[in-house]
Amino acid sequence: MFIIVGTGAGGAILARELALNGMEVTILEKGPYIKSKDAFNYYDKYNGSVDLLTTTCIGGATIVSMSNMVRALDEELHEFGIDLSEAYEYVDELVGVHELDDSHIGAGTQAFLDAGRELGLNSMKMPKAIREDDCIQCGKCAFGCPADAKWSGKDFVDDAVEAGATLICEAEVTDLIVDDGTIKGVRYIKDGSEEELFADKVVLSAGAISSALILRRAGIDAGREIFFDPFVSVGGYLKDINFNTEVQMAGLVIGENFVLSPHFSSFIRANIPDDSVTDKDILSIMVKTPDECKGYIDDDGEVYKTNTIQDIRYLAEGVATAGFILEKAGVDPNTIGSTVYRGAHPGGTAAIGKIVDSNLETEITNLFVCDASVLPVSPGKPPILTILALSKRLADYIKNK
Ligand SMILES: Cc1cc2nc3c(=O)[nH]c(=O)nc-3n(C[C@H](O)[C@H](O)[C@H](O)COP(=O)(O)OP(=O)(O)OC[C@H]3O[C@@H](n4cnc5c(N)ncnc54)[C@H](O)[C@@H]3O)c2cc1C
Repeated sequence: MFIIVGTGAGGAILARELALNGMEVTILEKGPYIKSKDAFNYYDKYNGSVDLLTTTCIGGATIVSMSNMVRALDEELHEFGIDLSEAYEYVDELVGVHELDDSHIGAGTQAFLDAGRELGLNSMKMPKAIREDDCIQCGKCAFGCPADAKWSGKDFVDDAVEAGATLICEAEVTDLIVDDGTIKGVRYIKDGSEEELFADKVVLSAGAISSALILRRAGIDAGREIFFDPFVSVGGYLKDINFNTEVQMAGLVIGENFVLSPHFSSFIRANIPDDSVTDKDILSIMVKTPDECKGYIDDDGEVYKTNTIQDIRYLAEGVATAGFILEKAGVDPNTIGSTVYRGAHPGGTAAIGKIVDSNLETEITNLFVCDASVLPVSPGKPPILTILALSKRLADYIKNK
């Protein structure tokens, strides 16, 4: 029997692949089973030193994601003997990675793409896992999807349950049961009481913060480092662009130390001291960078993050480039401003080569970690596709074992 803890990018596909292979799988998920459109109610709150976006519900953060699907960390993973090329092919097809049809590229996104090209930048459509036939182009990807047009981990949990897996929601795994260096099961809280569940193998896919805390309680010193792929959105006034209702992040510019993608933020409007400016008049760009793994999680789960000179330099390069694109796209340069600095991709807390080996197994036999925790360094790019491929690779390893 397998226990999988968490149903986000790492856990959901693993549950699907193992259950479809006829294996006995129980999935424990801390959050509730919800409809995608309600996901915005399940963002977590942190009191530490960072503004970090994560969710606790079925599908984890994939359910509020933009469904951006890019490959990352190829070279870094090769150093650990990990080649994901076959896994990527499988996963690309499974979630339907593709560039959106032109019918789903709005005026703001097109202005971003055109301006990027005119400036000689590497500008392209973002690969996505969105079904155009269902997408109503409302701009609400990060709220959850009102039309269920977006792939999320929830889709794979449903597949796993249909194939015979047991799903227990609102079950918070707190501790591991370990005997003589081998995993035996987990303890979890359900409806206020503590339960125990036993298994031959346990996979922690509870996300970079929770997985690290569970490991630490079992004596594995995870969570002493963390990255979170910092981002800001930079934008300003472009009358009647109506970008706020477009599919978000449908364009991409890849720089050496940053990625840029058109992304609406209502905070930008709040920066402009003119009451006649409304959401429909804002064009903004998300600037995302790879950060150094400086920071930690304390024993209560609070996240503390420090910025290095390199982190700030990368962010500054990205912001300056976004400013050039916005101006070229017609945004009034006198109105350009930025949101505060946030993170949405916590990872690196149980890194490959430090806490897990290249098969994602810990020093506790038959205890694996498969989520953003294991990424060895910050990708500075959307990580879901890489986590899905790592998870598919782990599923194959377990099946072959
Ligand atoms: C708004 C937003 C947009 C994003 N957009 C993109 C995008 O377009 N493309 C991209 O690649 N990335 C995107 N990301 C990042 C991406 O969603 C995450 O990096 C990814 O989901 C992390 O996967 P994970 O498996 O580590 O954790 P998660 O997906 O967060 O899954 C962790 C799961 O574990 C559960 N859990 C936690 N603790 C416990 C416990 N103790 N017991 C049981 N269950 C537990 C959680 O409820 C959750 O279901 C976005 C993130 C946010 C917040």
